[in-house]
Formats: sequence, C-alpha cells, structure tokens
Amino acid sequence: MKPTTPFGIACLLILAGCATPPVDQTHRRLLTLDAHLDTPVHFGRAGWDFGARHDPATEVAQVDLARMQEGSLDGGFFAIFTDQGPLTPAGFAAARSHALARSNLIDTTLARHAELIGIATTADEARRLDATGKLVAFKSIENSYPLGDGVAALAEFGRQGVRLVGIVHSKNNQFADSSTDKPTWNGLSPLGRDWVREMNRLGMVIDASHASDATVDQMLALSTSPLLLSHSNSRTSFDHPRNIDDARIRKIAAGGGAICASTIYLSELKMGPRRAALFDRLEHIGTLAPPQQAALGKEWLALDAVEPLWNTSFEQYIAALKHLIAVAGIDHVCMGADFDGGGGIEGLSHVSQLPRITARLKADGMSEADLAKLWSGNLLRVLQAAEERAGN
Ligand SMILES: [Zn+2]
Repeated sequence: MKPTTPFGIACLLILAGCATPPVDQTHRRLLTLDAHLDTPVHFGRAGWDFGARHDPATEVAQVDLARMQEGSLDGGFFAIFTDQGPLTPAGFAAARSHALARSNLIDTTLARHAELIGIATTADEARRLDATGKLVAFKSIENSYPLGDGVAALAEFGRQGVRLVGIVHSKNNQFADSSTDKPTWNGLSPLGRDWVREMNRLGMVIDASHASDATVDQMLALSTSPLLLSHSNSRTSFDHPRNIDDARIRKIAAGGGAICASTIYLSELKMGPRRAALFDRLEHIGTLAPPQQAALGKEWLALDAVEPLWNTSFEQYIAALKHLIAVAGIDHVCMGADFDGGGGIEGLSHVSQLPRITARLKADGMSEADLAKLWSGNLLRVLQAAEERAGN
C-alpha cells in the first residue's frame, strides 16, 4: 500500500520502457509483507546498492528497494542468519560477533535509505510506516546459535529491534533439534525451554521453521504466544522433513499462529557439487570484491539455466499455497518466499514477480479482504499477540 512509485510513473510515461507490466491495483493497495528475507547477506557487498534496481538476468540478489517497489512488496522481516559452527564457547563467541555485526549492517544499510524504508518493531509501527508511504523493515534472527549458552542475549537483540527469532537452523543447536538433523534432545533442550519462556516474556515471536516435529510440539505446549512458521510448506505438497504435516499446521492455527508459504521444498532440492560450492561462496559474498561478486552471479545464473535449484512450477506453488489455506484457514496463512536464502522458482524468481500471486488468487475468486490477511494481516496479528502477552 503506497503511492505510485517513480518506476510506475516512468511506466505510464514511456510504456515501451517498462521491464514488467504495471502492478495490479489490488496488489498495490494491500500492505504486503514477507516473513523471511535473507537479503542482508548482500548488504555488506562492496559497490552493491540496496536502493538500486539489480537486473535479475545478471544479478544473484532477489530483493532490492527498486524491485520491492516494482513488485509492490511493502516490507518484511530481514533476517540475521548465522551459519552454525561448533557448540563451544569459542564457536558461540564468533557467532555472536557475526550476528551483532549483521544486525548493525542491517541498521546502517536501511539508514542510508531512510527516505524509502523504516525499521518497525511493532505491528502498529509497520502500519504507520505504510500509511506514510514508506517500506517496512522488521528484523529477525534465523538460528539462535549466536545467543550462546544462555538466553540473556535475546533481550539484547530485542533492544536492537529484533522481533522474530528462529530457534534452530539445519543442524541441532544448544536449544533444540532441527528438522534436518538426527535427534540430540528429542525436541527442546532444558536451555531451549528457557528460550521459549524468555521469548514469551519479551513479547518476541517464535519462529518454528526448521524446527523438528518434537521441537514444534514442545514449543506449542510451552509457549503462551502463537507460533509462526516464517518460511515453510505442507508435507502433503512435498514430503520433506523441512516441511510440516497438516495435523501440526492445524494445531499451530488453533493456537492463533500462522504458516508463511515458501517457494522452497515443493520439489526435490538439486544440490550438486557445483551448487554447493556456489552456496558457500554466496554466504560470503559480502567479503568479495565486485568482479568476484559479478563472476559468482554469472555462475549461479548459468547453473540456474541448466540445473535449477527447484523444479517447481508457479502453478505447483499456487496449489501448495491453496492447500495451506484449506488446512489452516485463511486467518492462519502468510507469505515467506525465502528470497536470497535459497527460494525462488520459475516465474517467481525475484521480488518483482510477487504481484503474479495476487493476480492468480484474484482470478480464483479470492476477496481483497482475504488477500489482505494473507499478505500481512495474519502476520501482524501474530506479532501483536506476542506483544500483548509480553511480561507474562
Ligand atoms: Zn531458512
């Protein structure tokens, strides 16, 4: 929901110069938020401007401010992702400095574009920013590994504006078991139970994406606030442990929570040796000189052309999204494509293409009120529920 962007004006004036068709007016009216943007991985890149439009034909990044305006994505949760190292004091210390540096990098990057985007820490602040025509940035954590061997750092990250925290990533950590690792704790560790209580006390939203089934069950039983899955799908759509079964989706919905539809794991992940090596380099793209960044982008996109990461069609994605709505109910589904973190499929490969989803669902008869729930209403309600229960 924002006024016509400079891009839109340019499109009206010189139609021939438009890279994409004008955005559907319904999509433009909606407040649209994505619950999981891994874009901060690009924020430290020398010579890379988050404000500029990066050409998807040559550039590996899937989100920038110009394409957010083009695709009318009004904002979302920008993740502080930390790759997991050893669960030792030295490992925790290194992870903590990485996460704090990433948090600062998000702040300094957004501050350079303060006329276009602002940081929100509450649902109301997000609505206020949107009402003034600004994009909305929330901060989140993916993987609680950098918190170390206690939960005190949650409050510290909270003071830096973090509002949504994922307990675990692809490997078990000190707090919980991951969906893609063998059980260590059979769910939450004793410290993980403290983590849930502290998250509730601070009014921060628990992100259960990547958590094992037992971890999800125990968080559901223990948490006094609803759970969010910031980027997940149903195992009915594609049977993979990283997705979640329909019975658990119903339980999360019954607790007032929501599942944000992702573009990942709707088909088999093609992770050959070339892609794995590229992923490693991508995680450190912020340390590469511009020519090496460009080379990485070129190699990544060349591999996409012959061996895409996902063999998922746009229609399969829509079917999976509709399945989530059928199982959870329209009040419990949100959006989290996993852009810049492995997400993106043919036809939905970067943020400019998001209006396709709205257009497709509208063609199916979905009302604007329901689209509004899907694109931000449900996500903000979960955030507000956590805020209201803070201190208890
Ligand atoms: Zn993830």
